[in-house]
Amino acid sequence: MTRVAAAKPRSLTRGALRPQDARLSNLRLLTTSLYDNPGLSRADLARLTGLSRVAISDLIAELLESGLIVETGAADQGKPGKRATKLQVAYDWRDIVAIDVSGPRSVTGAIFSLDGEICQRIERPLAGKRGPAALQVVIDTVRALVELALRPVLGIGIGAPGLVGPTPGVITSTNLDWHQVEVGAVVSEVVGLPVEVQNDANLAALAERRFGGAPDDFIRMQISRGVGAGLMIGGQLVNGRNGSAGEIGHVVVDRSGGQCSCGKVGCLETWISLPALTARLADADDPELVLAQAGEKLGQALSFVVAMTDIPHIVLGGSPEFLAGSFEAAAERRLNAAIRIESKAPASLSLSNLGPEAVLLGAAVQVMNRNLGIR
Ligand SMILES: [Zn+2]
Repeated sequence: MTRVAAAKPRSLTRGALRPQDARLSNLRLLTTSLYDNPGLSRADLARLTGLSRVAISDLIAELLESGLIVETGAADQGKPGKRATKLQVAYDWRDIVAIDVSGPRSVTGAIFSLDGEICQRIERPLAGKRGPAALQVVIDTVRALVELALRPVLGIGIGAPGLVGPTPGVITSTNLDWHQVEVGAVVSEVVGLPVEVQNDANLAALAERRFGGAPDDFIRMQISRGVGAGLMIGGQLVNGRNGSAGEIGHVVVDRSGGQCSCGKVGCLETWISLPALTARLADADDPELVLAQAGEKLGQALSFVVAMTDIPHIVLGGSPEFLAGSFEAAAERRLNAAIRIESKAPASLSLSNLGPEAVLLGAAVQVMNRNLGIR
């Protein structure tokens, strides 16, 4: 018996590459190659990318003309003859404005150069503001940074807790009382610049991959005002059908955790978010026990994810004073106890070394990705 699959109709023209798309794609390929390997020559780029020398010469001329890349001197060829010129991305070509709305008390913002260095950093108190008032704090922070920028701004990246998409730039966040708020469009209208909006944990994952030395497959937990995760598989961020992949904070893990802001009882967030941990520690006789108990809830929640995906690397981001020590150890212990299979290497948890700026840094990576193809 043969089965005939019900093929989905597929347009033959959709996705066809126009010449200008191919050129843009090649410009991005060269930019990314130079970003990853500063100091390559045109000949190196030809070997690396498979593009012809003529094409490279032409594309590099355009990139030099724009100022995005610069010549930095002669490469040591180790053989006689004409010396090749080294090329690299001009990290001061543009500024990037990045905003993090995931903190418990304030909106933080920064200006980055293209190498991920912070040039300016500001913080605006949220003072309990939610809804439109919180969005106004975001707009004010963006405006202030655009004014502070010394170079033209490439774009604005905003990280917020909650669900992003499927329409880009639209976010739903229970913590901020935002429901389908068109953050991207609103901010873009005010400042006249392109705006990228992403979930805070997803941005932190982008930052770990680009600047934190993370592998191609890992889970990045973001433990802040809320709790979320960024899921990186094969070097690609997994967004999911509704943009909610990694939203593990509102999964019920133990109903004794109490009422959650989402309306349910006992979500992971009621155990391990910073406000929840702070409140539990305030009336605790044994703080280490409280932290270990919270860590166990995380390990338990992660066990199903790790078993399903076979991704054994988890990076924890948040306040080290809570997460390092008893919390981290208990989470790793519980996770491995739950998923143990003979001959399988245990999963590992580690603390992020990117510090409190991981979401901001990820927002900058997102802007570079959208505008320059750099991931
Ligand atoms: Zn919840």
